Amino acid sequence: MRVGNGFDVHRLVVGRRLVLGGVEVPFGKGLLGHSDGDALAHALIDALLGAAALGDIGTQFPSTDPQYKDIDSLVLLRRVAQLLAERGWKVSNVDATILAEQPRLGPHVSQMRERLARDLGLTLERVSVKAKTADGLGPVGQGECIAAYAVACLEEPE
Ligand code: MG
Repeated sequence: MRVGNGFDVHRLVVGRRLVLGGVEVPFGKGLLGHSDGDALAHALIDALLGAAALGDIGTQFPSTDPQYKDIDSLVLLRRVAQLLAERGWKVSNVDATILAEQPRLGPHVSQMRERLARDLGLTLERVSVKAKTADGLGPVGQGECIAAYAVACLEEPE
């Protein structure tokens, strides 16, 4: 088995959709980014790539490349899943934590798990998503940004 970890943070701004784990969450602000700003998907991508030592999201999908502008980050996640499968890697499980002061993400977590599991070709019990606040502390707690942490466990190619 191999383990990888991922982290991402995006600034919350007015005039953007809030997309986390491929799910659009109703809120007055969204995450700024070259893509759709889906910090959860990006942390998961880095965890998956990290476990296979295949670099990170920036090396696979450079933000200077116009083809990735405003892209649905689950498209990138599916490409990573394909990349791993082509090399014989099998995803055992993924686990992620979103840090957001607002909005309350609890009601959306099960839909995020479903979307991510579908795009990773995994059963639901292999995909965990948790959401918590920062208790008012730091930039997350002040509502300036949303962050996500993820780990992925991969089975090595035969
Ligand atoms: Mg990102």
